[in-house]
Amino acid sequence: MRWVALAVVIGLAGCTAAEPPPSPPENLVILSIDTLRPDHLSLYGYHHPTSEHLDRLARRSAVFDQAITVHVTTAPAHATVLTGRWPADHGIVRNGLRLADGVTTLAEVFAARGWATGAFVSGWTLERHTGLDRGFEVYDDALDGPGAGARRAGGLTTDRAIGWLELQATGGRPFFLFLHLFEPHWPYDPPAADALRFLPGQYELATIGRPVHIERRLSVNRLDGLERREYVARYDGEIAVADRLLGRLLDALDRLGLARRTAVVVLSDHGETLVEREWAMDHGGRPYDEQARVPLVLHIPGDRSAGRRVADQVSLLDVAPTALELLGVDPPAGLPGRSLLALARGEAPSSGLGPAFVTAGCLPERVPHIEAPLRPHAVVRAVRLPGLKLVEYPLADGGWHPELFDLGADPGETVNLAPARPELVSGLHAELDRWQGQRRADLEATGFELDPGVAEALRALGYDGD
Ligand SMILES: [Zn+2]
Repeated sequence: MRWVALAVVIGLAGCTAAEPPPSPPENLVILSIDTLRPDHLSLYGYHHPTSEHLDRLARRSAVFDQAITVHVTTAPAHATVLTGRWPADHGIVRNGLRLADGVTTLAEVFAARGWATGAFVSGWTLERHTGLDRGFEVYDDALDGPGAGARRAGGLTTDRAIGWLELQATGGRPFFLFLHLFEPHWPYDPPAADALRFLPGQYELATIGRPVHIERRLSVNRLDGLERREYVARYDGEIAVADRLLGRLLDALDRLGLARRTAVVVLSDHGETLVEREWAMDHGGRPYDEQARVPLVLHIPGDRSAGRRVADQVSLLDVAPTALELLGVDPPAGLPGRSLLALARGEAPSSGLGPAFVTAGCLPERVPHIEAPLRPHAVVRAVRLPGLKLVEYPLADGGWHPELFDLGADPGETVNLAPARPELVSGLHAELDRWQGQRRADLEATGFELDPGVAEALRALGYDGD
């Protein structure tokens, strides 16, 4: 306890030095790169150079090493980014649903204060049927070009967003831009050269033209080693395409003289299971870490957060309160997330055991290792602590199938410790019940602290959150 107090004193002393407080940015860009796994970005240590432009931005940004989504499906996760509410509270608990009445969006908050607001999206899951257009003066969801109807090539979406930025450069109003790219979401069809970059010594693709959405329905064991490598390289090639589009966006901000006044947040809605599990090249239904972890980069021009890596676990739930604090806007009452600015600047104590909650819709065919009958489309829920995770699948008989993972010893979540650790399962199960019980019933609920007894038991086992 004493050293924590000391650290706070030192932190405060640091603030009183000659350093002037940073001037807040005027504008905000949130770029969402759909289906992007952080461990496939060179920024997060990937062995291939997939993210040259993001790496460059990240050197001038705060990078969150353990950012967790709230739902491993596109519309629910994006609705949380754009409202700061849990899926059960904003109402979009799966793709195809509409934002609940009375839920305030970030765009509405900014628009009410005179900001220009524009959104440019690339997938049907974010079309205006979601209600996520609420508060945007421009909501461009025209999915034209190749793949029309389901998705739009990121280059087209980015060019339209840049066209809108050009108008804002002389418009005299601050702005909020939300840009969504569908790369690297399947079907992983980048230009062949972008995939071949990640296949040294190979000059053509054997799997070219073979759509991932058919292959993924096969057992991954029916794909040979070359095919698996190619599909991963195709995914990585899509990341490289999205990264170039980020570069194009950053160049436009520079060219238009906006870069020094514009904060840029880069994130994803969820990750992707590639070839590590039987139902491959897919997301949704399984909140394992390859789907639950997301990249999160927070760039504030001229800010002391530049160059920091944040090890604390944070949630996509925290993006909206962060954006609001950054632009000096009071948040709507009772947002459950927290602003990450102090963490990004190294001015907040570690968040320790702070849990992250992730949900999914139950898709039994994707978890064939569970023999008991499951309840399709019911909620799969997970609580993730630093180093430990409990996933619960809903059983047809009303109970739960628990899977407990030690993320330190088993980051791939392959060994279910639940049968051996019933006391841990029962403590975390009760926390999931308590968290789920707060949803909808209490929209004003703020924050979530672990039960002190559960926290103490976890610390005694070495899960101290450090
Ligand atoms: Zn998505």
